[in-house]
Amino acid sequence: MNESLKIDNLHASVDGQPILKGLTLEVPKGEVHAIMGPNGSGKSTLAKVLAGHEDYGVTEGGVTLDGEDLLAMEVDERSRAGFFLAFQYPHEIPGVTNANFLRAARQARLPKGEEIDAVAFYREMYEKMDRLGMDRKFTGRSVNEGFSGGEKKRNEILQMMMLEPKYAVLDETDSGLDIDALKIVAEGVNAMRSPERAFLVITHYQRLLDYIVPDVVHVLHNGRIIHTGGKELALELEEKGYDWITKEPVAA
Ligand code: ADP
Ligand code: MG
Repeated sequence: MNESLKIDNLHASVDGQPILKGLTLEVPKGEVHAIMGPNGSGKSTLAKVLAGHEDYGVTEGGVTLDGEDLLAMEVDERSRAGFFLAFQYPHEIPGVTNANFLRAARQARLPKGEEIDAVAFYREMYEKMDRLGMDRKFTGRSVNEGFSGGEKKRNEILQMMMLEPKYAVLDETDSGLDIDALKIVAEGVNAMRSPERAFLVITHYQRLLDYIVPDVVHVLHNGRIIHTGGKELALELEEKGYDWITKEPVAA
């Protein structure tokens, strides 16, 4: 079977305004792809469409996850199918502690009637928090409520580490992180790289890609992928900016 996250000619609108205009991209299992692009090019729109955000309407094209129609799935089904999105602006969930949130998410993945092993769950969560340099007090706090920007981003990565998705999309996880936190987060991602998993790393800056070295780099502009290259493309963009590429005539 063709195991990949496959985005085919995706068109999506918000408030009737087209944002994604024929985006095509395939991330096979085992690979790390990066999407770079100027602000406003549609990076977060892509991420939210994949996650099933209700404000974004797909008008054409499709997305499959290991051959299954991702867009036909409910939001929770997408998660159980192995899809994960780390948001650029993580949501706060007042009244739900981090520990309970993660526990419920893990429980939802177990076969019906099977109970989570609480001791093993906490042991694993603490171990992963230690690796991310997160204080244990974050287990008892409401999800992301009052967290600093950097704490929210680490918390997104903790969720990813606990859910062990097959396909993880990271939307500007680097923004709001200082260099030490960025390295810790990148180590967490790199430790999860495996032939059974794929990552789509969305970033405006090349810096993150020094630490999470991608197999393929795509440039998103005006709702379409206009250029694809190897990891060296990120360095080229850092050096030359986006103009040289966005002003290139787009092949019909
Ligand atoms: P990026 O993440 O690449 O910076 P976005 O996907 O956030 O870009 O935004 C792409 C375009 O879509 C922008 O022009 C933005 O203003 C518009 N857009 C995104 N979400 C909304 C929304 N909910 N309502 C109105 N416009 C939106
Ligand atoms: Mg964005």
